[in-house]
Amino acid sequence: GHVVLQPTDKPNDKLFGGLLAAGFDEASCTSRYQSFLYRKTSTHKPSSYLISRLRNYEDLHKRCGPNTESYYRALEQLKSNQTVGSAECKYVVWISFSGLGNRILSLASTFLYALLTNRVLLVDRGKDMADLFCEPFPEKSWFLPMDFPIIDQFDSFDQKASHCYGNMLKNSVVIASAESVPSYLYLHLVHDYDDHDKLFFCDEDQSFLAKPPWLIIKTDNYFVPSLFLITSFEQELSKLFPEKGTIFHQLGRYLFHPSNNVWGLITRYYQTYLAKADESIGIQIRVFDSRPGPFKHVMDQILACTLKEKLLPEVNMQDSVFTLSENPKLKAVLVTSLNSGYSENLKHMYWEHPTLTGEVIGVYQPSHEEYQQTEKEMHNRKAWAEMYLLSLTDALVTSSWSTFGYVAQGLRGLKPWILYKPENETTPDPPCRRAMSMEPCFHAPPFYDCRAKKGTDTGAIVPHVRHCEDMSWGLKVV
Ligand code: GDP
Repeated sequence: GHVVLQPTDKPNDKLFGGLLAAGFDEASCTSRYQSFLYRKTSTHKPSSYLISRLRNYEDLHKRCGPNTESYYRALEQLKSNQTVGSAECKYVVWISFSGLGNRILSLASTFLYALLTNRVLLVDRGKDMADLFCEPFPEKSWFLPMDFPIIDQFDSFDQKASHCYGNMLKNSVVIASAESVPSYLYLHLVHDYDDHDKLFFCDEDQSFLAKPPWLIIKTDNYFVPSLFLITSFEQELSKLFPEKGTIFHQLGRYLFHPSNNVWGLITRYYQTYLAKADESIGIQIRVFDSRPGPFKHVMDQILACTLKEKLLPEVNMQDSVFTLSENPKLKAVLVTSLNSGYSENLKHMYWEHPTLTGEVIGVYQPSHEEYQQTEKEMHNRKAWAEMYLLSLTDALVTSSWSTFGYVAQGLRGLKPWILYKPENETTPDPPCRRAMSMEPCFHAPPFYDCRAKKGTDTGAIVPHVRHCEDMSWGLKVV
């Protein structure tokens, strides 16, 4: 079972094999020091090169982070809108945008981009980032100071913004002269971006984008797979991640530590419902339909998948008298869904009928928020807690297209079974398949060959960047 161990039992896991830096104030972020008690030891070790790059990044962040002299000097450049000489510290600002799963993935992508380009990541706290996550870097905050000069414009930044890189290219604006480059550029990498915005993923553009002291990114995507197709990053990425399909697994565990509030939600739920189970399985149900559900074809699909893949036991439908062994194995099923119907159904099935294996099945669902909400503190805390709880289970079933599930599988460090997206209210056949890797899918990748300057299938260029199982045009690292 998952009886929680005393801290001394797994000393080497505490900092995830050196992934996390020591020396934080434990009380300010309990999850940072306790999560190893709940999480299974990962079989995917971070490379020593990644660890050394992270430590270097932390030094850079200390030197250049908010309220340092370097930060103020870079701000001066922003205010005067002119860059003279080369700045000692350069920044990439991530704008808080979209659903929580999307935000976690896009922030991890932006951090990787910061690592690759030696920039300092600063995070727009939006409505609730500070409420949900601990600070990941020692000493200096990762949050963009609230008095950042153009912070009020973030909401209005779009494809047509005057500092939008793609827009400038489209209008053939002279972006830089020999003597000066703009102090900042806005990069629009939202799913609705156009061919000009997508030039971000070209080598030539990257060598230009290295110049401005400030880059400001708005994105709702996990754009890591396309970074692999940029030649100048490829080698570094291979050194950072010799085991390619573990990028989000490493970066996600490095960056995202639940705040104390959220950690309370996670640990109370875990101790109450999951800790005593002999085995656990997480089922993440995300139905992209405007009607509330539950839907029969989805319920049928969940059963077809979990029974066929032997993730859950069959039940004996005959009314025969059945004696349970004295100490039956307890299997916990953690269901997350906006709707309570699916878990109710499972719960009744396993109460009304015995299992053929003799196991007993507990079915638990932390919340059913009915519909996606924004701007509500508790709603997003629960969403984050549930992604995290899913990542503490032994096996995972996730839903196609859902970043919520990608976060859970990545933090967990295993390949989920993905429920195919139903079409025409029919249960897909097969109902699910095992993912090729635990990596998230990039939902809106470019299909452009920068060198040949023509369209191409970016899922067929290198063996480790493939089309996703759940979205045929998406790209993922395998
Ligand atoms: P995606 O839309 O599935 O890719 O995931 P996102 O996390 O980006 O956006 C979905 C949002 O809907 C979440 O952030 C939650 O606010 C809400 N949501 C969806 N599914 C669940 C769920 O199972 N539990 C909870 N608590 N919220 C959910």
